[in-house]
Amino acid sequence: MSAELIRGSVIREEILAELKAETEELKAEYGKVPGLVTILVGENPASVSYVTLKVKTANSLGYNEIQDNQPADITEENLLSLIEKYNTDDSINGILVQLPLPEHIDEKKVINAIDPDKDVDGFHPVNVGRLMIGGDEVKFPPCTPAAIQEMIVRAGVETSGAEVVVVGRSNIVGKPVANMMMQKGHGANATVTVVHTGTKDLADHCLRADILIVAAGVPGLVKPEWIKPGACVIDVGVNRVGEKISEKTGKKIAVLRGDVDFEPASMRAGWITPVPGGVGPMTITMLMKNTMKSFKYSLGLL
Ligand code: NAP
Repeated sequence: MSAELIRGSVIREEILAELKAETEELKAEYGKVPGLVTILVGENPASVSYVTLKVKTANSLGYNEIQDNQPADITEENLLSLIEKYNTDDSINGILVQLPLPEHIDEKKVINAIDPDKDVDGFHPVNVGRLMIGGDEVKFPPCTPAAIQEMIVRAGVETSGAEVVVVGRSNIVGKPVANMMMQKGHGANATVTVVHTGTKDLADHCLRADILIVAAGVPGLVKPEWIKPGACVIDVGVNRVGEKISEKTGKKIAVLRGDVDFEPASMRAGWITPVPGGVGPMTITMLMKNTMKSFKYSLGLL
């Protein structure tokens, strides 16, 4: 293997240590800590384990974390009222509603009901617009795209003038990360191409990339020969391709594979993210960073 590994699991620890120190400093000065509420509707097992990790991370930083579990049959009206309650609660800086929601609830209505200044997920249309404008307008960059950019910057990869190719155009990864990378500014200023299922010659586009960001959800989609030698490859894909018994716990766990053929790709790339241990562990970290940002806005520090 010749590529340098960009490990989200390591960068995460650096950022969490920074946030913990900042929380302690601000608590000492203002007597307050960042407040984050996570609303979980129902008991979808994937959502439960994700939310549990969020709560654990927030608590480890000393945030005021409120876990608000609601039954799967909560009415849309009651969920909207609950959001309104947290919108007007000054001790809450971030509101997160875990998706997906049960079918009888309109997700768009719910996202739109969150105060954009507490929308630490960055999914509210106001924050999507702010991201598009760029610069100082951006309050809460969505967490996975922010994680990708942070990893590229912390790895020391030059973005200015780079050819960035993004595989995938979803609202949560492809579109926002493409938008962020083309903005004028630090960690961006790149020339960006977005490719998708309508693209002809996917391989040719990928081969031009100095930075290749792959978020397609198709295991092994990107072949090693599509990678420009020395390129930075960010594999966002998390695909369950089987199950195995964990050596650590003895329990059944999912076998995960990325969208890039990791072993051969790492012989050509200059930098590469592993799956698991790459972008995955960074998303919750960026949520914590956005919550801190919201807290600092509330203190008038930003
Ligand atoms: P998504 O909503 O399904 O979007 C996938 C995108 O990839 C679509 O734009 C699709 O094109 C494109 N695509 C699919 N197959 C393709 C192909 N054969 N050639 C070219 N383009 C193709 O997925 P997503 O939510 O963005 O997630 C993508 C992957 O990232 C998934 O594996 C997901 O689990 C992972 N993910 C990880 C994290 C994390 O680690 N924290 C966070 C979010 C997502 P069309 O638009 O033309 O259909």
